[in-house]
Amino acid sequence: MTVETVTKKSHDVVVVGGGIGGVCAAVSAARMGASVLLIEKSINLGGLATRGLISWYEPLCDGQGHRMVGGVGEELIRLAVSVGLEDLAPEWKKEGASPEEIKKRYCTHFSPTFFSLALDRWVLDAGVELVLDSHATYPVMDEKRLRGVLVEDAAGRAFYPAKMVIDATGDAMLAHRAGVPCELGNNFLSYWVHDFSYESAQKYVADQNLAAFRHWNHAGSSANGNGHPEGLKLFHGDSAEEITEFVLRGKELVWQKYEGIDPHTREIMTLPEMPQFRTVRHIVGKSTFQGTEDGVPCTHPIGVITDFRKGGTHYAIPYETLYHPDYPNLLTAGRVISATGEGWEITRVIPGCALSGEAAGAAAVLALSHGEDADRVPYDELHTVLEQKGVLFDLHA
Ligand SMILES: Cc1cc2nc3c(=O)[nH]c(=O)nc-3n(C[C@H](O)[C@H](O)[C@H](O)COP(=O)(O)OP(=O)(O)OC[C@H]3O[C@@H](n4cnc5c(N)ncnc54)[C@H](O)[C@@H]3O)c2cc1C
Repeated sequence: MTVETVTKKSHDVVVVGGGIGGVCAAVSAARMGASVLLIEKSINLGGLATRGLISWYEPLCDGQGHRMVGGVGEELIRLAVSVGLEDLAPEWKKEGASPEEIKKRYCTHFSPTFFSLALDRWVLDAGVELVLDSHATYPVMDEKRLRGVLVEDAAGRAFYPAKMVIDATGDAMLAHRAGVPCELGNNFLSYWVHDFSYESAQKYVADQNLAAFRHWNHAGSSANGNGHPEGLKLFHGDSAEEITEFVLRGKELVWQKYEGIDPHTREIMTLPEMPQFRTVRHIVGKSTFQGTEDGVPCTHPIGVITDFRKGGTHYAIPYETLYHPDYPNLLTAGRVISATGEGWEITRVIPGCALSGEAAGAAAVLALSHGEDADRVPYDELHTVLEQKGVLFDLHA
């Protein structure tokens, strides 16, 4: 059987993956006037943060009362809070609170459903074109340059030509298939559901806070391995067999979690719609963020973030973590950028994904006027654009 490939309209920037990294990259590029296509394999935006039920926005502050992440990272926390379920501390809601007044971190629970609905409007309002239920399969290469992306969708196979491509797939699938060197992650078994019960309903009524009603129930391991079944291997998450085993084992743990509870007093609200691997694959880029650079400036920062686990830490993320210099028109965004070990832990959460997304989108547009080459983007221009977008660069806030 021959499969016909339909060639679609060309775009300045094609972003693959509509998680936090991808939506931020797409919006950032579209707001600079580029024609942008966002390709998402599911039918809802937000990735792990929404379909993966990881509806907790890690802190945008340094734990000492200072904002660390501005730009779209901050815009998105405001969007999440505006659509309902949230527990952002009041001091972050009012204008101009001094660092001394601020006792809590700049973080919140949010509604994965309403936040995902809001993301549709957010990307469309920015002028991004969106195709859902469209699974990108392979890059089409001309040596090390991507001519565009092949996609399987309801109509068959399509080719989307692109001048610049951003891999925001969460597993660097596109970069890997283009030949970019990559590193695989190791994952403990984790399976999170959202449930409700008489208890959570009572708490909701008492506290008048929906965040107490939509209760996170966590089976398996925490981020540091507590709860990982003894003797069980770690998972990379890079094959159907691995993903199936990870998910089925996780579901068994969920059954165990509810054993002995009267079935009429509890209900699972939503199962995750994607496997909850923290780290699948990242590129090995021009530079790699290690996570040891607390307080250390870098030559070409795209902004600063904190370690969500440790207040008082300040990290500058280098622009060169977003690409490999041999692949001129491919950038990355989100948890697939070049960050390893502790560096991967620090960058993979929502604020870090928003930051790299915003920078990748801006860099892609600037590259268009400089030979479509990520490595030739003049850093001063990128810095100016990011500052205009509200990105913060102060390492010693
Ligand atoms: C168990 C767990 C707990 C976590 N806890 C927190 C937390 O409390 N707070 C926090 O801030 N972060 C947390 N994180 C991390 C955070 O949620 C994610 O790392 C982050 O949201 C990732 O965003 P992303 O856009 O890089 O990737 P993803 O969210 O994975 O998005 C990638 C998107 O690309 C799409 N896609 C993939 N392949 C293709 C393809 N071939 N074609 C088209 N589309 C494709 C996917 O459908 C998805 O929508 C946690 C993660 C896990 C797993």
